Amino acid sequence: MAAFKENIIGRLDPVCGLQIDASKAKFQSTFEETTYYFCPKNCKDRFEEEPAKYDGDSNNRED
Ligand SMILES: [Zn+2]
Repeated sequence: MAAFKENIIGRLDPVCGLQIDASKAKFQSTFEETTYYFCPKNCKDRFEEEPAKYDGDSNNRED
């Protein structure tokens, strides 16, 4: 249970970087056993088009 709980608390929207309150999030998606939460913009759609682009680290960050 602890690991599961870690996954749902204090997530960042992986697309735009906003912090998402998991208890209030209406937009979520699961990719490779990790649940991601999204703000009410189009981030969920963008994530689901190319989840690997937003998952994990940092190869193509636009800095
Ligand atoms: Zn967003």
